[in-house]
Amino acid sequence: KPTVAIVGRPNVGKSTIFNRIVGERISIVEDIPGVTRDRIYSSGEWLNQEFSLIDTGGIDIGDEPFLEQIRQQAEIAMDEADVIIFLTNGREGVTAADEEVAKILYKTKKPVVLAVNKVDNPEMRSDIYDFYALGFGEVFPISGSHGLGLGDLLDEVVKHFPDQEDENYDEETIKFSLIGRPNVGKSSLVNALLGQDRVIVSNVAGTTRDAVDTPYSKDGQDYVIIDTAGMRKKGKVYESTEKYSVLRALRAIERSDVVLVVLDGEEGIIEQDKKIAGYAHQAGRSVVIVVNKWDAVEKDEKTMNEFIENIRAHFQFLDYAPIVFLSAKTKKRTQTLLPMINKACESHSLRVPTNVLNDVIMDAIAMNPTPTHNGQRLRVYYATQVAIKPPTFVVFVNDPELLHFSYERFLENRIRDAFDFEGSPIKIIGRARA
Ligand code: GDP
Repeated sequence: KPTVAIVGRPNVGKSTIFNRIVGERISIVEDIPGVTRDRIYSSGEWLNQEFSLIDTGGIDIGDEPFLEQIRQQAEIAMDEADVIIFLTNGREGVTAADEEVAKILYKTKKPVVLAVNKVDNPEMRSDIYDFYALGFGEVFPISGSHGLGLGDLLDEVVKHFPDQEDENYDEETIKFSLIGRPNVGKSSLVNALLGQDRVIVSNVAGTTRDAVDTPYSKDGQDYVIIDTAGMRKKGKVYESTEKYSVLRALRAIERSDVVLVVLDGEEGIIEQDKKIAGYAHQAGRSVVIVVNKWDAVEKDEKTMNEFIENIRAHFQFLDYAPIVFLSAKTKKRTQTLLPMINKACESHSLRVPTNVLNDVIMDAIAMNPTPTHNGQRLRVYYATQVAIKPPTFVVFVNDPELLHFSYERFLENRIRDAFDFEGSPIKIIGRARA
């Protein structure tokens, strides 16, 4: 998927434009306790082309002075994006800060599309001519609050998308990534995995120049570790900011089949872990929870079970994810990881026969009658699997409003009892029968 980044000084309306472009997508996201959504990265679609969108304005760069912040946000856009939208404000004209942003962007070879926001009516169009002086060719007047001009802007953006060859990996290749806060041992774990197999082919550059994937094979199965470079510390100032690491993680998750959520067994679970785990779940990827540094934990026969209970309590939304305790340092149990990844990937693309599925659903209903609301009872007519990655089921009912979260959960659990979806999330969608 191509990536588009929005840059510009504060108050030009970056997040309004971001929300306009990703629009409904954000609001249909399910509401799961413990899962927070970051509005700096999402998906958009235009002319049947999907793309990822980054609001660099949402990445606050610590205590740096104002100009330094926008400079770094522009650099992030240059690192991460295929096309850059440079946003300015027509009401205020060209400011010194706009000129600063322009100066940074002159250094990029990536296409830059200049948009002038807050041009709310045609009379204001004469205000845009000054912006040609910034030197990015055509200027696109838009109005974020009125939703004007976005079509023309996106037409232009889409024109600059590179040929999409990112996903040139074999269908059979399993793509996985490791996410987790700094110092939980992600890099060490990658080294432990690669070290024991020693079949590193080469590093393959992805669409953006900073994404480096590491392919390797084991027992006849090909794997790609997504964005291994993102784990190295590279020394640009913004790389240590939390939002930027979140952004990198979100991008890696999106390209993965399976996500390893890495926790630090020694330090235990903190709020940040929960947030990171939430991203993997929300993206609908298969998940394996890895508790690293288990060598450093003083334990008795209860320790592991207590840790498992703790994980289950904190990450209720990840109840389908298997947990593995290992040590990247001593390599204890690291060899159990790949089989778990294989399994999670298999679950992610499992299709179940419609007749068996409907038997399961009907048995479930017989066992636990459907809920009623205002005297109306939920009726379930038929279910069918409509997608994989993740497995998605449409349940045809009399009124989707009556299919509450708790009953949905119940049906999900029955489906999980009947079929082996370990490691994979599954989605249930209620539809009114036509
Ligand atoms: P990353 O930031 O998640 O990539 O973490 P690193 O791989 O750089 O590891 C952070 C620190 O934890 C380093 O000092 C590692 O040596 C240490 N570490 C990593 N894995 C283990 C482990 O399994 N056991 C112990 N005791 N230390 C580990």
